[in-house]
Amino acid sequence: MAEISLFDTHCHIDFHHFDDDRESVFENMREAGVERIVAVSVELEQIDRLKALVAKHDNVWFSVGIHPNHEAEHEPSVDELCSLSEHPKCVAIGESGIDFFRHRVEPEVQAERFRTHIRAAKQVNKPVIVHMRDADEATLNILREEDIADCGGIMHCFSSGWDAANRALDMGMSISFSGNVTFKRNDELREVAAQVPADKLLIETDSPYLAPMPHRGKRNEPTYVRHVAECIAEVRGVSLDEFARITTDNALARFGI
Ligand SMILES: [Zn+2]
Ligand SMILES: [Zn+2]
Repeated sequence: MAEISLFDTHCHIDFHHFDDDRESVFENMREAGVERIVAVSVELEQIDRLKALVAKHDNVWFSVGIHPNHEAEHEPSVDELCSLSEHPKCVAIGESGIDFFRHRVEPEVQAERFRTHIRAAKQVNKPVIVHMRDADEATLNILREEDIADCGGIMHCFSSGWDAANRALDMGMSISFSGNVTFKRNDELREVAAQVPADKLLIETDSPYLAPMPHRGKRNEPTYVRHVAECIAEVRGVSLDEFARITTDNALARFGI
């Protein structure tokens, strides 16, 4: 059997959750065939740490952005985001978007911040990693108004219905699924994952959060993207090998690696 090569397109491997055993987490990844990851930014204070991490690991890339519900000291300008992302291993802008699940940041501030991220992404021609939670309408409207198709992007940890997926796909977005696609009650989400066109499909862990079955409730890590892959390969009726090849090719193309 061919060795599989998986790509975890969204994780937070620099978070303190991994401080005690980060190297063994990387070792686990290698053994499970998870060959590449993107370490995603949620605040600008983190960028130096991410740059140090990618300098140390050939198979790690990073993004630059502020999470919609992060209480930021100050809002970055388009220029600021552009200059922070000037780095050979910065492959995306984000994660940014709209999140009405929590209300730490006012909706108007989230919206303006999101628009700033999209404008920066278009300037540096990198995709936007989009976080959309309980805010389909608001998120998709901004994506359309800001012409996201110019730079493209990824709907990360996709958890909405087919209608939202379809609208995002129409704007050229990729759809990335995480551990919640494996949860028992999520038949509808698996149905969406079965329908997304193969060339738009990505997988991720969002670790340390949202561990897939059978690790649900524990700390998540990039290795477990394999469970996400196995689950979606099964509902699509393709082999794990084939699924890994397609999603890894998609990630490489999307990030311009
Ligand atoms: Zn997110
Ligand atoms: Zn995240």
